[in-house]
Amino acid sequence: MTSRLTVNMLVCGSCGWGVYSRARHDFRRCPCKAVHVDGGFDYFKCGYDPKKDRFVSLILRVKRETLYNDWNKSRDKYGMVPPEKVPKEVGGDHEHRDHPDPDPSAGGQG
Ligand SMILES: [Zn+2]
Repeated sequence: MTSRLTVNMLVCGSCGWGVYSRARHDFRRCPCKAVHVDGGFDYFKCGYDPKKDRFVSLILRVKRETLYNDWNKSRDKYGMVPPEKVPKEVGGDHEHRDHPDPDPSAGGQG
């Protein structure tokens, strides 16, 4: 059985690493220490520069329990994503709507 979990990953604009908090007391920093996340799924805290850094929704095929144990037992398999594995962009998050749709009922020429 596979479960999907969406985490809010903070991607550092300086070193390119992505970090996310796995548990309430899991405080994580990227390698260059420019960004940090904390609070896990209970409350979300972070420090970053909105001009440089960005958030990415990361879907993990694990349970919360797995992340918690990963933190609790210091396995550190999760929580940090190297630059080459960070998704380049968030798919379908924003769409362009510069020109309004033409109104087909306007006019009146049959
Ligand atoms: Zn960094």
